[in-house]
Amino acid sequence: MPFHLTDEQELVRTSVREFADAEIAPLAATLDREHRPPLESIPKLADMGILGMTIPEQYGGSVSDYLSFIVALEEISRACASTGVMVEVHASLVSTSILHFGTEEQRQKYLPDMAAGKKIGAFCLTEPGAGSDAGALASTATKEDGHYVINGQKIFITNGSFAEVFIVMARTSDQPGTRGISAFLVDRGTPGMQIGEPEVKMGIRGSSTTPILFDQVRIPESALLGEEGHGFKIAMKGLDGGRTGIAAQALGIAQGAFDQARVYAMERVQFGQPIAKLQAIQWMIADMSVDLEAGRALVYQAADLEDRGQPFADAAAKAKLFCGPMATRVTHAAMQVFGGIGYTDAYPVERMYRDARITEIYEGTNEIQRLVIARSLLR
Ligand SMILES: Cc1cc2nc3c(=O)[nH]c(=O)nc-3n(C[C@H](O)[C@H](O)[C@H](O)COP(=O)(O)OP(=O)(O)OC[C@H]3O[C@@H](n4cnc5c(N)ncnc54)[C@H](O)[C@@H]3O)c2cc1C
Repeated sequence: MPFHLTDEQELVRTSVREFADAEIAPLAATLDREHRPPLESIPKLADMGILGMTIPEQYGGSVSDYLSFIVALEEISRACASTGVMVEVHASLVSTSILHFGTEEQRQKYLPDMAAGKKIGAFCLTEPGAGSDAGALASTATKEDGHYVINGQKIFITNGSFAEVFIVMARTSDQPGTRGISAFLVDRGTPGMQIGEPEVKMGIRGSSTTPILFDQVRIPESALLGEEGHGFKIAMKGLDGGRTGIAAQALGIAQGAFDQARVYAMERVQFGQPIAKLQAIQWMIADMSVDLEAGRALVYQAADLEDRGQPFADAAAKAKLFCGPMATRVTHAAMQVFGGIGYTDAYPVERMYRDARITEIYEGTNEIQRLVIARSLLR
């Protein structure tokens, strides 16, 4: 049975879809071709209230329930997956971490500007030697006369080339593994912070993904986010909600490809009839539709659990584990419906096919989602 949205949530879908069709979709091919982040969309996303959907009004946001935010993310990603991940990292990973773990002073300092799109967030966990095994990170933050000094290297940082606020995980003690990791808020331009050249990627080419070097980066003690030694917990809490966000991104990409394929199937004539009359095509369209409905149910369920204050990590991992491969399947089938023209950049389906693949990798690979799910089943 389909998950029913409330009237308010349906309104979010309608208004964000209209906005995304008018303002986000027309830019998507150019951003992809030019490997350029959607900077011009940031003020519009802020005006629509989308950047502030996870931020309470008292901090300048337009807070909604998490499911409404997820619906908005799905609709943005349906139009442009690169814009989708920019919003997801900013609003889900970074803003919510500051809201949940920040001091009042930190919330006041960052959240109003983040809701207004004046400061975009980035989340710096991954390192060359610490990907799936994030607890193996080696960056250090050493206390020195009222300051912390950060040294280390981060890689694959989404929004890296233009973000203004970076949550950075680094070790504050010699304790092994996940213990001894702390989280810090670092402002762009802090001396010693070197943002490298963006990676050249298969898809989401409009999303900036950079390495960042921290060389004797000195920040005040007040930049500690949460308690010392709680950084891994903060990162994992952020990633739990983030996984629902990436699942919504995957769902949006798949929905976009499906919508295009359905229309094309009814227009393209071969053997004297629209290809939609061919059973082979009908079956592809039917399978895609089942995939989308199943994925949507899992994503909305995970967001709904979070809204109701219930444990949701397992549901978020299930949603991501289903929706990542589902987006790969659906975009693959959509390209098949288009035939040869689908393999060119004449239609967005080619971009969507490339964009979908990353949703099986970042914020925890498929294999890591299976570990999370199995762990909760085999306790
Ligand atoms: C475009 C992009 C954007 C990103 N954005 C960010 C960001 O903003 N911030 C950030 O911190 N990181 C970011 N990442 C990093 C991303 O989260 C990692 O790439 C991802 O978690 C996988 O880590 P890895 O690449 O080191 O792969 P590895 O951990 O080296 O994994 C390699 C393979 O081994 C498998 N594997 C590893 N461990 C296990 C295990 N225990 N059991 C079974 N299989 C296992 C993996 O599933 C995978 O198939 C981004 C990455 C990309 C490509």
